[in-house]
Amino acid sequence: MGIEEIVMFQGGLLTLVALIGIAFTFALPKPKHKHKSKAAHYARLFLVFTTLAQIALSLRHVGYREVYILCYNLFLLLSAWLVFISVAKRYGHAIRGRYRYAIAGHLLVVELLTMHFYWNQNSVVMRDALMLFNCAIPLLMTLSRIRHYLSRESVGNWVLMFSLVVALFITLIGGPLYLFVFVGSSEQQTMVGLISIISLQMLFLLGFAVSIMYSLLERLRLRVFTDALTGAKNRHFYYEMAPKLCAFAERQQQNLSVVVCDIDHFKSINDRFGHLAGDYALKHFARVIQSMLRKEDTLIRMGGEEFLILSVQSDVAEASQLAERLRSEVNAYEVRFQSHRFRLTASFGVVEIKQNSDLFDSVKEADAALYEAKHTGRNQVVAVGF
Ligand code: GH3
Ligand code: MG
Ligand code: MG
Repeated sequence: MGIEEIVMFQGGLLTLVALIGIAFTFALPKPKHKHKSKAAHYARLFLVFTTLAQIALSLRHVGYREVYILCYNLFLLLSAWLVFISVAKRYGHAIRGRYRYAIAGHLLVVELLTMHFYWNQNSVVMRDALMLFNCAIPLLMTLSRIRHYLSRESVGNWVLMFSLVVALFITLIGGPLYLFVFVGSSEQQTMVGLISIISLQMLFLLGFAVSIMYSLLERLRLRVFTDALTGAKNRHFYYEMAPKLCAFAERQQQNLSVVVCDIDHFKSINDRFGHLAGDYALKHFARVIQSMLRKEDTLIRMGGEEFLILSVQSDVAEASQLAERLRSEVNAYEVRFQSHRFRLTASFGVVEIKQNSDLFDSVKEADAALYEAKHTGRNQVVAVGF
């Protein structure tokens, strides 16, 4: 195969890989968030410019040396910045004006220095070193952004982080070693460049895709445990997660109490003001309760207008005080829906979960206390053993 055929073959192969990658990004689920939805767009541009950079590199063998000089460093550096932009967008950040100017300035300065090293000094070493170390800047900045999210989201970000560490390794260690220590012929360099570029493209796409998939899974998992109307946790959470919370509190030897509550005469709200007003009242009720709870307490909608609160580090006395505060706060605000104005009251049952006792049995006891609160006048708190 002559050199022209090799160059054509490499260009064709790269274009094919990039097109498959681009098609793949279109198949990924699109987030609704304004910036997050743009991330895939920049990932596609990354594929385009890495491909163009590699094509520019191989064009030097068929007489287009100037194309290579003018485009190679520029496109590679632009690709590294595109990684930074797409990761920033992926996490929902905007790229502000001054960032854009800084990126454009950086590209311009590196391009001018590249031309200077080519025409005035003819220094290949300086030109390559300039490109490698400047590409490391956006890659390092990307890495530091991802680090923020490692603890919050799981595997997806680790894969993205891993792919960037590999990219940095190739840029800062593999590249210089190959270019300056084991110096190969320029054809070999083009081949190694081709393999590196395809590996980087695939790694980045993989990290990007896995990161999107996992955050979608995380959102889905949250939704499975969340009540759509009130935003409180739902019954699935109660059956699957609440026993785990209890076991954890018990292991930590923390007190844990359960408060069950039920809105009084809720049926009459539906009957008097309509079902929509009833829904609105439920949202209002959950909002008021949630605003009074600590971060570590959990509000669960058990169904209809019945809720349950798991309050950690609370004994029966503290939980009763909490229930009393909730009771008076619920009644303190007027619910305003369309032209309707009304107030809610609720009844509460409180129980402390003793060591070695079962959550579901304790909730039954709390329900009995709530039943007593209902039958002795409503709008009150009844605590077991207090
Ligand atoms: P009590 O003081 O004894 O608790 O009386 P109540 O009327 O609150 O209790 P009851 O259990 O008789 O009625 C509950 C009502 O809640 C009946 C049902 O139509 C209504 N409800 C249940 N879920 C929803 C909902 O999601 N939205 C609306 N608007 N109403 C609901
Ligand atoms: Mg009720
Ligand atoms: Mg009820």
